[in-house]
Amino acid sequence: MEQGKKINSLDVATKQVDIAAERLKLDPGLREKIKQTKLELTVHFPVKMDDGSIKIFTGYRIQHNTTRGPAKGGIRYHPDVDLDEMKALAMWMTWKAAVVNIPYGGAKGGVQCNPKQMSPKELENMTRRFTWEIALMIGPDRDIPAPDVYTNPQVMAWIMDTYSILKGYSVPGVVTGKPLELGGSLGRYEATGKGVFITAQEAAAHLKIPIEGARVVVQGCGNVGGIAAQYFEKAGAKVIAISDSKGGIYNKKGLNVASALECKTKYYCLITPGARMGDEITNEELLELDCDILVPAALENQITPKNAGKIKAKIIAEGANGPTTTEADEILHDRGIFIVPDILANAGGVTVSYFEWVQNLQELLWNEEEISERLIRILKKSFAEVLSISLREKVDMRTAALMLGIGRVAEATRLRGIYP
Ligand code: NAD
Repeated sequence: MEQGKKINSLDVATKQVDIAAERLKLDPGLREKIKQTKLELTVHFPVKMDDGSIKIFTGYRIQHNTTRGPAKGGIRYHPDVDLDEMKALAMWMTWKAAVVNIPYGGAKGGVQCNPKQMSPKELENMTRRFTWEIALMIGPDRDIPAPDVYTNPQVMAWIMDTYSILKGYSVPGVVTGKPLELGGSLGRYEATGKGVFITAQEAAAHLKIPIEGARVVVQGCGNVGGIAAQYFEKAGAKVIAISDSKGGIYNKKGLNVASALECKTKYYCLITPGARMGDEITNEELLELDCDILVPAALENQITPKNAGKIKAKIIAEGANGPTTTEADEILHDRGIFIVPDILANAGGVTVSYFEWVQNLQELLWNEEEISERLIRILKKSFAEVLSISLREKVDMRTAALMLGIGRVAEATRLRGIYP
């Protein structure tokens, strides 16, 4: 059913809950409650463009669940942003925060737009107006945005500034992933990619695959993919392929990651004529390369029943949210491919976002060592917990992670009770 039509991420997220809830033997009413979003806001708003015209944009902010704490989740700027995608991404945030046992619920937001075709001024205007539109939902005690696809620390700075103007005083804790100069945390920018590396390293140790010399393939070279690739390279692995939205480069002897990323920054493209770093490949070919570790770090629904049978990696460490569909999961599991699921592999971002928020609320600054030690401790502990559920219950790693996350949210719901 998944082939031929656009895969709906919310269907994937909902099916995942059903699989884990069945295993947990959750009460049907409770199961329905945790599947639903708590609050969803759709806004259509005008933005003044550079040519003097007014353009209407559509944006969303979704709070999936706030049982365990304030809602937390990124803001995405992409042409494919829609309500169902946002709801799925918000749901995954809820389970992710629970897997790493951080006192947050899940949220997500975004604007349907093509940021690559907008000037910095247009992006600023759009961000400020969008912040104004969702200001009634966000706040350091209620819902805290962060960067996601095609948003960055500068966008977070504009959100923080607009929200602070509305309040009449500076509110750094309203967003995480801010520039350091505005109360951002050391280590936040690297956190998600570093977390992908740490959890993949745990998986490799479990499977007795040495990281040194391991062949790694990375789809996407943004915040998550680019940084994960650098950590793998630093640890002695061979990054043999990396891509962006236009395609990838492949060199079976191993790429020079820094040069590839430099090329991307300079020419906005990895495939740069004359650079000759490797052979050009498509994103589809890249996923099927012979390698030890595959890191999808771009968008959802990249691994489907169409290509799951052709994937040759031994480990898939999911930097992206929702890169694998439920049917593909089954195929990969049957083929013995070990998955570090998104809600564990990319949880380094929300973990250091939490550290940033705590520092903002307490008006304290932690040093890099403190942040790194805490991050590594949390991710290693979470990996061990998920692995032990997987071995004990004889389920794949995704189901185990969902059982841990959903189980924690279900227990918190039971303890709080249903009002009145
Ligand atoms: P980013 O904007 O920094 O980078 C996105 C990358 O994906 C770019 O290299 C882009 O060229 C590439 N890309 C876009 N469309 C593509 C396509 N169709 N095929 C291949 N590559 C494509 O975004 P990011 O923050 O690195 O986010 C990447 C993924 O990681 C997303 O799924 C996001 O939700 C997830 N994630 C991000 C964070 C975070 O802290 N930024 C945290 C957790 C999860």
